[in-house]
Amino acid sequence: MLHTMLVDGPCLLVNSNTATEIWKFDMRDEVFDCDVLVIGSGAAGLATAVTAAVLGLKVILTEHAAHIGGPSAISGGEVWVPLNRQAGGSANDSEEAAIGYLARVIGDNFDRDRVETYVRNAATALAFLEDNSHLKYELLETVVDYFTDLEGATKGLRSLGAVPFDGRRLGKHFKTIRSPMPASMIFGGMSLGRLDIPHFSRFTRSLPSLLHVCGMLAKHMRDRLLGHRRGTRMVMGNALVGRLTLTLIERKVALWTNTSTLELVRRHDRVLGAIVAHPSGRRQVNAHRAVVIATGSFSGNRQKQIEFLPHVRAGQQHRSHLPDTNDGSGLDLVRKLGGSIDNTLVQPAAFTPVSIIPRPDGADWLTPHFGDRAKPGVIVVDGSGNRIANEATNYHDFVGQMLRHSASKASAEFYLVTSHRHLRAYGLGRVPASPGRISPFLRNGYLLKGQTLSDLAGKLGIDAEGLVKTVAAHDSHAIRGDDPLFNKGGTAYERAAGDAANEPNPCVAPLGKGPFYAIRMIPGDIGTFAGIRVDSVGRVLTDRGTEIPGLFAVGTAASSIMGGTYPGAGAMLGPALTFGYLAAKTIAQEATDHKTLAHEPREVVTCPPLAPQS
Ligand SMILES: Cc1cc2nc3c(=O)[nH]c(=O)nc-3n(C[C@H](O)[C@H](O)[C@H](O)COP(=O)(O)OP(=O)(O)OC[C@H]3O[C@@H](n4cnc5c(N)ncnc54)[C@H](O)[C@@H]3O)c2cc1C
Repeated sequence: MLHTMLVDGPCLLVNSNTATEIWKFDMRDEVFDCDVLVIGSGAAGLATAVTAAVLGLKVILTEHAAHIGGPSAISGGEVWVPLNRQAGGSANDSEEAAIGYLARVIGDNFDRDRVETYVRNAATALAFLEDNSHLKYELLETVVDYFTDLEGATKGLRSLGAVPFDGRRLGKHFKTIRSPMPASMIFGGMSLGRLDIPHFSRFTRSLPSLLHVCGMLAKHMRDRLLGHRRGTRMVMGNALVGRLTLTLIERKVALWTNTSTLELVRRHDRVLGAIVAHPSGRRQVNAHRAVVIATGSFSGNRQKQIEFLPHVRAGQQHRSHLPDTNDGSGLDLVRKLGGSIDNTLVQPAAFTPVSIIPRPDGADWLTPHFGDRAKPGVIVVDGSGNRIANEATNYHDFVGQMLRHSASKASAEFYLVTSHRHLRAYGLGRVPASPGRISPFLRNGYLLKGQTLSDLAGKLGIDAEGLVKTVAAHDSHAIRGDDPLFNKGGTAYERAAGDAANEPNPCVAPLGKGPFYAIRMIPGDIGTFAGIRVDSVGRVLTDRGTEIPGLFAVGTAASSIMGGTYPGAGAMLGPALTFGYLAAKTIAQEATDHKTLAHEPREVVTCPPLAPQS
């Protein structure tokens, strides 16, 4: 078994079976040589590094946070991959249908070249990564495309989830992977995957679910007794990152955490490496083939939010799920070299409504509202007590509605309202369904309760008369499953997010009698769409559309091929893996074209010291 030191100090790879050192990276050196320098360790950076390493290139991957994985590690880990082999490839889907669907969703921002490249390569990229790394995905058969009313949409064919992963396989490096969001774990560090959640909501009624839950709890207790700070069963984005990282460790790829990039270095027009600040000091990395910017989204940086998000600039509330290490520094590095930033997309960020859970220490946790709004007996109202939109709209477009509704107002705060019966059936935000406890959330003020709607409105500080009228009007139609105001439950996507057992409309039911509950929601994001302008394989472009030789950008550091829209579950990570793979493949191909067979041993020539680009 191979181990590599991931953090700080000398990067040493040892074979623990023989205890002999087989490859050494001495951090006392001041200059390092590699073929590809990958900056950023999210899904895109990891996919680039894995592909490049498999194709025989020597890779150094730097990450300026202390942990590997970035937001990819806290994400749902789902990928939207048309024609994937798990769904039978072209037997059940077609390039034409997928491209047509994206063209219809994206509209004016449709970039045919990049979208076609994506659709034609996504399944190959995923298969390559699965065949050459520990990555493993399974089809999510109940997940449908977000615009099922558009031609070319499919149900249960294009979204896949990362298969859970045993973090113990990472050995001591398990703790180097970024932990999931605290709000997404229970019992002090046990992560729940999408497929675990139904077991938790029915374990009192179903023996298989009871066994599933007991198995998870037993493993979690074992982990805690063995001293792990969280459960070693990695799910969703954490599994994605853990799986790719294990492959990099086995392939002797240098992973330098706590390493920031000070400058990109270029001679004449070509980017040749970077000056980095490693904990052991300032180091020069000569990248003989390319530098790949995989620094992710910028919304962890308030200044960048102000620059790119109009409602933040206007002073409205906004909270990002991203850590402050997602600071957009990749964009700054590229700008300095004349690279272009594309901020022309229909939305600059991937939005989701968020609610804020107060913590005893004065800090808080965020919870995204992906699907709870679609459940029956749940509405969203504004300060006048009026509903603002179809609550079952996908999370990205729902924030679009929140922003439109609050355009000329100081506040973009809205309220999820439900009644006791529905709260216990489905949960709301972070509040669990029965048999989970709601009292901690009432105590910390996250969940507000009123015996009557007027009482609840008083606690929220909103118009009581308006709320009473809204619920009366809603309930008078909801009794028949109708929603004449917004047609909630009108599409297959919406109905899939509701409750199939609630007839005749899975998304609509009267709130009925109290007590009533509410949670405050504001706009938030799970990443950004605006980013570095690139060509169809990720080469960074200038404002004039010319390429900057030797420089690539992948993942959310690059501008999104989705044009600022969200066509389906996995619409960010699917492209992150695919374009990481494509960039690495292109770099390897160029190495071959230059008559240097990358996969064969060859002398690595150390560049003379280079002056950083001013
Ligand atoms: C709660 C949540 C759920 C989500 N679920 C999904 C989902 O299921 N499917 C989906 O498609 N998307 C999902 N997303 C969005 C998805 O996580 C992001 O789009 C994805 O992580 C982007 O991957 P990336 O590799 O481009 O960048 P990131 O994951 O952001 O990684 C970039 C890394 O680069 C590092 N970095 C930044 N600057 C530098 C620098 N100068 N030097 C060195 N390192 C640097 C960062 O610290 C970070 O570790 C979700 C997001 C959240 C928050």
